[in-house]
Amino acid sequence: MQYYLGIDAGSSYIKLVLIDGDENIVGRHIVPRGADINASCREGYSGLLEKCRLDESAVCGIVATGYGRKQVSFCEKAITEITALAIGGFSIDSNAEIIIDIGGQDSKIIVMDSAGKVMDFAMNQKCSAGTGKFLEVTSASLGVTVDQMDVLSQKADAILSLSATCTVFAETEIISHIAKGEKKENIIKALIVAVASQIQGLFAQVSPGKDGKILYTGGVSQNQTLKKELSVRLNRDIVVPEHPQHIGAYGAALYWKRNKENQTTPF
Ligand code: ADP
Repeated sequence: MQYYLGIDAGSSYIKLVLIDGDENIVGRHIVPRGADINASCREGYSGLLEKCRLDESAVCGIVATGYGRKQVSFCEKAITEITALAIGGFSIDSNAEIIIDIGGQDSKIIVMDSAGKVMDFAMNQKCSAGTGKFLEVTSASLGVTVDQMDVLSQKADAILSLSATCTVFAETEIISHIAKGEKKENIIKALIVAVASQIQGLFAQVSPGKDGKILYTGGVSQNQTLKKELSVRLNRDIVVPEHPQHIGAYGAALYWKRNKENQTTPF
């Protein structure tokens, strides 16, 4: 059996997905991104092969995507995250017409047609507002982890407003809220609402008129409070697929497999 590997070299994590010739996922793996992206991808690749009890010779194609894709020296091709997410998302759910992806350093909204072809997309500006980095930095200044933010935000009992969308200014506001004796839970809820507001703004840039299914991917999609807040703000159901952080890597693996077999993809 021959296998195809997709590597999503993200700003925070390296995600890897291995598929077989029938497009079944045979393994997935994740490692943190180190200073040397290529070395982190290699480490992730070795870990995945070990997990799957396979040798490198069984892998007949490697495609990289993500922020660090051009640093991956051992891939055959690098494709954008927009392409990879659209292929991966559409393959998981062919009713999906919009993908919201919130990762470590950027957020994206991708609009597809009913055949999965990318029609439009929007990405956050260079600043980290509305991304995982915003939650990482602000949670650290509150002395909690990003994972803990979800449960803590559910204990909020007051609506606070945060005027700053910028991460640095938000930190200043957090300090001032703490100094006033505000509950940590309320500050965390306000931070999550601030991310939702950023995503709502991004969504408005591309989605008008589209009422198809929304898939929500990326590491930040694990925060349930944010998912609910987005759903209310967009007035739409939002579906988080299984393993939402691996959809880009899955799409990259599919891209190569389909191209190798000369299948037509809309991309
Ligand atoms: P990238 O591709 O940029 O590395 P990912 O899609 O892998 O991004 O997501 C990484 C981001 O997800 C990080 O900013 C991380 O803090 C965030 N994250 C991870 N786990 C959670 C969680 N449980 N709740 C919210 N955010 C999370």
